[in-house]
Amino acid sequence: MQTDYTKDTKRLLMEKYGISQELYELCSQCEQSLSFEFRNIEKIAEFNHLKVLHAMQECGISDRHFAGTCGYGYDDIGRDAIEEVYAKVFGCEDALVRGSILSGTVALATLLYGILRPGDEIIAATGKPYDTLEGIIGIKDVENKGSLKDFGVTYKQVDLLENLDVDFEGLRKAVTDKTTMVMIQRSKGYAFRHAFSIDTIEKIVKTVKEVNPNCIVMCDNCYGEFVETREPTDVGVDIMAGSLIKNPGGGLALSGGYIAGRRDLVSRASDRYSAPGLGKHVGASLGSNRWMMQGFYMAPHIVSQAVKGAVLIAALMEHEGYETMPHSKDPRADIVQAIKFGSPEKLRSFCASIQAAAPVDSFVVPEEWDMPGYDAQVIMAAGAFVQGSSIELSSDGTMTPPYIAYMQGGLIYENVKLAGMMAVKRLRNLN
Ligand SMILES: *Cc1c(COP(=O)(O)O)cnc(C)c1O
Repeated sequence: MQTDYTKDTKRLLMEKYGISQELYELCSQCEQSLSFEFRNIEKIAEFNHLKVLHAMQECGISDRHFAGTCGYGYDDIGRDAIEEVYAKVFGCEDALVRGSILSGTVALATLLYGILRPGDEIIAATGKPYDTLEGIIGIKDVENKGSLKDFGVTYKQVDLLENLDVDFEGLRKAVTDKTTMVMIQRSKGYAFRHAFSIDTIEKIVKTVKEVNPNCIVMCDNCYGEFVETREPTDVGVDIMAGSLIKNPGGGLALSGGYIAGRRDLVSRASDRYSAPGLGKHVGASLGSNRWMMQGFYMAPHIVSQAVKGAVLIAALMEHEGYETMPHSKDPRADIVQAIKFGSPEKLRSFCASIQAAAPVDSFVVPEEWDMPGYDAQVIMAAGAFVQGSSIELSSDGTMTPPYIAYMQGGLIYENVKLAGMMAVKRLRNLN
């Protein structure tokens, strides 16, 4: 006789969370209907795991790399090994990976200010970039804040087509021999669109290089790492950046960002990160090496947990009649799941469920607020071990129609599953 291990789970869910057997069964049916998708996610994680593991073995990672330095941080072998591992995994020449890069935005700013010079032209190939880049580029006219525009870097934008695909014809026309850099954003960010696949990124690179082979192609890789088996730098992207409190930190990195790509470009970004001439040689790791290395080791698996969670939540929400992006059956290119709720109460309820299911701050009820840098009020749910970490389960949205929640992360699939059941229960109670 086979033991029914779900019996105890169902009882616990009923007693502790008020989740009915019917809802648990619905969830199980969704999981069964997603077995093909889950299997693919596992296959991707297996490949990416082997890639990371082999890079660590090749670099001879050992206990001595975890010691860390203080002061200037010269000859920090652990820090240098982490950068070597990143470069190998991302199939590129070099990487700058630092806890002292404060966030994804700061990694992107360091990359842009390090590489671009007065008179240079930058073109966004995937429409308006992520909100926090607007101030850096100078799209939002904040005078004399030291935007790239203040320094004489001009900006053009190729908007997405009506169907939210890349406008390849528009891009071909926009790029000239004067264009220094073309920017790609892999993730959907806060837009109700698909994230761009590595195939699409490859096509953008080809399009740009056909017109101007010297043009630098750059990618904002936030939320994209390890979702597919290839990274932007595997298909001709010259330089990319991302956040360590998202995918590549594996939930263990306590802060940081990375820049990876061509050696000459990483070198310029490194001179901006520290100071011209000092580059990558300084920067004490202050005991962060172990977390960063282990986090990168964990990252492919953790990303698979988050993506499985996103797919399950999508299926549950589709069952309840809500529009999702991407659909549970669509291929994925980032870890973000968007759900259109159509009413402020439902968006609030969904975010409250995500919060209530978290291991940290589960007793908090999220409320919308006037977040600096945003025009509308924003509601955010995050109960994370690392503040603001969005490789941990989190959800947010702006309090404007059509009331879309953007959910991402989840270190542990079972935790995301609980959040999904709690969300269905609470949303049903609203009706
Ligand atoms: C998260 C993110 C960033 C940078 O965000 P930080 O919060 O500064 O780490 C930039 N671009 C995209 C697409 C992102 O998802």
